[in-house]
Amino acid sequence: MPSSSSASLTFQIEYPTCNCGKPSPMRKSKTKENLGRRFLGCGNYEKGKKNCDYFYWIDPDPKEKQMEDKIETLKSEKRDLHLKCQEHVDMLQELVNENMKLKKKLTVKVGEKS
Ligand SMILES: [Zn+2]
Repeated sequence: MPSSSSASLTFQIEYPTCNCGKPSPMRKSKTKENLGRRFLGCGNYEKGKKNCDYFYWIDPDPKEKQMEDKIETLKSEKRDLHLKCQEHVDMLQELVNENMKLKKKLTVKVGEKS
């Protein structure tokens, strides 16, 4: 009975295979739209051989990322505005209270004169 327990636990980079059965190494995009974006493509792609349509992005779409960042910015702006709005409501309430006090004083003074 062979008992090689940890012998097979070596680190291996496992590339998925493309439709040609070739290992598909990770590459970086060189196009302007996706510069530096990592992807998996056909293993035969850069050798000028026939290649299959295997293609898979590893990194998320930079445009999507930008949209997500924008959404986050808008969300925090909304929070700030909500806080400011609440401050204004408080201020308005204070002004209404002050106005009521002044009105009371005025009616008392008017009452004194007559
Ligand atoms: Zn292929």
